Amino acid sequence: MAELPIPFNLPHVSGNELKYIEEAIASKKISGNGAFTQKCQGVLSDSFGFRKVLLTSSCTDALEMAAILADIKPGDEVIMPSYTFVSTANAFILRGAKIRFVDSRSDHPGMDEELVEALVTDRTKAIVPVHYAGVASDMDALLSVSEKHGIRIIEDAAQALDSYYKGRSLGSIGDMGAFSFHETKNIISGEGGCLVVSDSKLDDRSEIIWEKGTNRSAFWKGEVDKYGWVDIGSSFLPSELTAAFLYGQLENIASIQKKRLEIWNRYDERLRDLQDLGIQMPAIPEYATNNAHMYYMVVRTEQERNDLIDHLKRFGVNAVFHYLGLYKSEYFKDQHDGRALTECDRYTRGLLRLPLHVGLSDSDLDRVCRAVRSFYNLSF
Ligand SMILES: *Cc1c(COP(=O)(O)O)cnc(C)c1O
Repeated sequence: MAELPIPFNLPHVSGNELKYIEEAIASKKISGNGAFTQKCQGVLSDSFGFRKVLLTSSCTDALEMAAILADIKPGDEVIMPSYTFVSTANAFILRGAKIRFVDSRSDHPGMDEELVEALVTDRTKAIVPVHYAGVASDMDALLSVSEKHGIRIIEDAAQALDSYYKGRSLGSIGDMGAFSFHETKNIISGEGGCLVVSDSKLDDRSEIIWEKGTNRSAFWKGEVDKYGWVDIGSSFLPSELTAAFLYGQLENIASIQKKRLEIWNRYDERLRDLQDLGIQMPAIPEYATNNAHMYYMVVRTEQERNDLIDHLKRFGVNAVFHYLGLYKSEYFKDQHDGRALTECDRYTRGLLRLPLHVGLSDSDLDRVCRAVRSFYNLSF
């Protein structure tokens, strides 16, 4: 009998998720900002040193909140990598911003920090680094540009929970940071996310925007005696059912991360030598840590990648490519300023991600590595 296919990702239940959902239901409070939301926010703050955390329904929502909080207005410019997810850009497009896309680094798909300053104009309002694969952008380089020109930094830390830059938690270094708990990330709640607010001047407004533009949050805390509509906002907060699931995951973050790191290291031991063939393997700069969000390889041509994906499929291994550079997307291509983003193109064509989830067994890992190596006629 053929072996079962190995999925690229498999959402997993780590322990008490169902129990906590039942508790939330029994408590007769399943809308947002209840006990489980507070608990998740508390754990995230305590574990990672986040100054203020607001749970959201997605990282997309957290980025949209950040764009409102950064006061992005029509015509303002925002600098970010082209090799990223749609939501990184879309959040700012919704506010009328003009996006200046930056090319990726040659050793890593994250944005090339050295190209950022040349794109700064007097309309530039924010720089949005994306910590690709949970590996930090060089934040000191970006902070020096942001301080010199008075520009905010908003970190897209969707993939970067439990990852660090020179010992500081990613997502807490810029003015704001956005995380995702989508089922493809390390810690999950189906859909989910949070906004980290590090600039205390944004605290009050962040709660208002979170609660549909009302001061309801301050009302519950007894800070105002009636609540009403005071600003723009939306329904950014998740239900308690989502927060209950997330709390179950956050309780087990240490064991989840340990398992993912074991898998990542096993891949690396067995596949690192592919770099001798001119294939780019993951790089972790000395200022960064590895949260084992992703194990990827960058092969030389799109044809090679497609052939490798087909080859792996014959072994029952589902490997997937990743972003299509946003600057060439159907929505954006006519707005791009014409700069060639050749590294972004190279990752768009050649990057391949291998299965990585806590349900992978040793024999699954053997199968993936044997399949990859056999494509290159290498022994296993
Ligand atoms: C997953 C991801 C997002 C979107 O997260 P959602 O929670 O699905 O909205 C945004 N940016 C990056 C870099 C991501 O990896």
